[in-house]
Amino acid sequence: MLIVGTDHAAVETDLLGGLLACPDCDGVLRPWSHARVRVIRRRDGEEDRLRPRRGRCRGCARTHVLLPDEGFLRRRDEAAVIGEAIEAKAAGAGHRSIAVRLGVPAWRVRRWLRRFSERASAIREHFWRWAFALDVSLAPAGPGQGAFVDAVEAIGVAARAAVLAHGPRPAWCWASFASGGVLLANTRCPLPALR
Ligand SMILES: [Zn+2]
Repeated sequence: MLIVGTDHAAVETDLLGGLLACPDCDGVLRPWSHARVRVIRRRDGEEDRLRPRRGRCRGCARTHVLLPDEGFLRRRDEAAVIGEAIEAKAAGAGHRSIAVRLGVPAWRVRRWLRRFSERASAIREHFWRWAFALDVSLAPAGPGQGAFVDAVEAIGVAARAAVLAHGPRPAWCWASFASGGVLLANTRCPLPALR
């Protein structure tokens, strides 16, 4: 799997132009049909269906789904919604009030928050590495406020550095990209190394 932008025409152009690299070996990806249909649930409860493109590596011959950065792997809700829940939790809100605000079931919010919490230390480390790679002038992180809050802060710092370096991109879309889509995957699924 490779996380790409949400502009399908631009992704197609990059794929045809040989500009997308294999996440396993850095070989060039070539067009290779489409993946199965995915559903993305929006902030307002609307659902969009999309059929992601698939590429095949000329080097290792593996195929990869080109997943838009508006979502996370194996999560139906869009990254912005899940991100809003995570930020609200970091600001002190409980999962029930977050669920009411977002219009989603409380159990689902609790599941997102629990998964983020389980991975918080790894997420913090991963995104600080990104932040320093994007902006060498950054000061090291100050005293911690707990693993969960520190991880959210790391994503915020890195996402701001990414915008300054590469232009606007919604923070949680960038977080999906920078985590290879596995931000909320289980702990056996490692966050990808920086390239
Ligand atoms: Zn490859």
